[in-house]
Amino acid sequence: MRLLLVEDELDIQTFLRNSLEEAGYSVDVAGNAAQAEDMATQSAHDILIVDLGLPDRDGISLILRLREMGISAPVLILSARRSVDDRVRGLEQGGDDYLTKPFALAELLARLRNLLKRNNPAAGEATRLRVQDLELDLLRREATRGGLVLQLTPQEFVLLEYLCRNAGRVVTRSMILDKVWGMRIQPDTNVVDVHIYRLRGKVDGKGQQPLIRTLRGVGYVLKDR
Ligand code: CA
Repeated sequence: MRLLLVEDELDIQTFLRNSLEEAGYSVDVAGNAAQAEDMATQSAHDILIVDLGLPDRDGISLILRLREMGISAPVLILSARRSVDDRVRGLEQGGDDYLTKPFALAELLARLRNLLKRNNPAAGEATRLRVQDLELDLLRREATRGGLVLQLTPQEFVLLEYLCRNAGRVVTRSMILDKVWGMRIQPDTNVVDVHIYRLRGKVDGKGQQPLIRTLRGVGYVLKDR
């Protein structure tokens, strides 16, 4: 799930980026309305979080502009403005939900999940990935193999999701670094190998047909049959 966060306050920006990434979202961050417009045109987002008090323009006018541009992804307004008038105005003018600051992270995440579900009536299928007896519930961020829940860290889940989306195809270490870690880590680290090792320990349990294969010097492949 790709998310666009429009927020000018650096503390909240950093906190949200980290928390949302940990929850499995790929996060683009814009610090003002102009930047947000650019980013929204450059790539498609599944959902947006928009602060109302932006340095260059009001968040509401940004949302109206995005809607004019044909962007229909759900928008969660996150604002310090708490009055009923402000909230009603936000919801009437293109916002799909409204959360006031200060907020609880768990509530923010729950609201995002709801918006994504509401926006996609076929969520039951579109948010599940299945490869052999391995199944990923992308909304609940839960993976099962043979019906048994795998205890994965958020990062392991993202990695497994990437492997599942590419099941049957070879993915290289640098592809994984790029897609899962966003290249923020030096490519010479062994972070991929370490995570694959741990993931394999959880996915390919004792007595099970191994799904994650290593191709020496090339990368990895999740077997689809
Ligand atoms: Ca602000």
